[in-house]
Amino acid sequence: MKLPRVECPSCTRSIAAEPVAGRLSKGRIWRHDAPDARRDADGHLLSCAGSLEIVDLPYGQLEIEIEAEGSAMLPDDAMALF
Ligand SMILES: [Zn+2]
Repeated sequence: MKLPRVECPSCTRSIAAEPVAGRLSKGRIWRHDAPDARRDADGHLLSCAGSLEIVDLPYGQLEIEIEAEGSAMLPDDAMALF
């Protein structure tokens, strides 16, 4: 499944967002490294502060994704299942 991309509120990069179960318009930004790849005292890369943040998903993108996955093959009442 191709995930919609949203702008990270912290580093403003375009990051994939995973839809949150039960909240169609919300997504969780995938964990990603800080823009300048900072490391903590143990040498581990630090995640960007925007990682795992819950954000609004771009509804238009989501709509396109669904259409692109072959809605022509779905029965007319398929939308009732969503
Ligand atoms: Zn970020």
